[in-house]
Amino acid sequence: MSLREGRLIYEGKAKRVYLISNDELIMEFKDEVTALDGARKEHAPGKGKLTASQTAFFMDYLTKSGIRTHFINWDGDRRIHVRRLRMIPVEVIVRNYAYGSFIRRMPLVKPLTRFTAPLVEFHLKNDELHDPLILPEDIIEAELASMEQIMEVKSVALKVNQLLSKLLSNHGLILVDFKLEFGVNGNGALVLADELSGDTMRILMNGKHLDKELFRMGGSVKELVEAYSTLNSILGLSL
Ligand code: C5P
Repeated sequence: MSLREGRLIYEGKAKRVYLISNDELIMEFKDEVTALDGARKEHAPGKGKLTASQTAFFMDYLTKSGIRTHFINWDGDRRIHVRRLRMIPVEVIVRNYAYGSFIRRMPLVKPLTRFTAPLVEFHLKNDELHDPLILPEDIIEAELASMEQIMEVKSVALKVNQLLSKLLSNHGLILVDFKLEFGVNGNGALVLADELSGDTMRILMNGKHLDKELFRMGGSVKELVEAYSTLNSILGLSL
């Protein structure tokens, strides 16, 4: 299905966002990959379609499982059609196993140790400050969200973790960690937004990454695109 053109309102490292009406947007996934705060950036032919299809697949699955998401539909290529929200500028990270920035701040825990209970973290969305870890109280003081909204964000994030972990484990995959973003709709309801793909999740298949960690560790664009294609075929996503 083809999506209407809209006015470009945002361009980030891996996505463009177009406004198509007062309450609808198009997210376009670029054929680009960046890592290490943008220090490593490369053209990645075919990646946009893979990350768009993964986001569409996971968002559709979550919607059908009762999670309120911004997803409307996918154009079969690099674009998805979503509802417009007032975004909360906080990245919510859920971790099942110790990895990445967790290990850097808590080196006493061995990499890939499974947590007794999943961790939910809040990071301020701010490139210049490198998305620092923040407290719920910081979010309230800055009036980015209320305590009720933060509690709801946490409970939805944990529910999303249960659903995605189960879905992936049914395919023999391990969900190490992932990042979510939330917004608020015109009725004041909290809605899951943004992206869910190999760029925003760490997924292991027999110890091998099917996610952006490959590129962060120095792997090539080709290896990354192949890993994303493998993830799609494991999940039964046709391209
Ligand atoms: O780097 P860190 O360990 O904090 O990342 C945790 C998870 O959040 C990883 O799956 C990573 O891909 C994702 N993430 C993201 N966008 C960011 C930071 C982290 O998608 N800006």
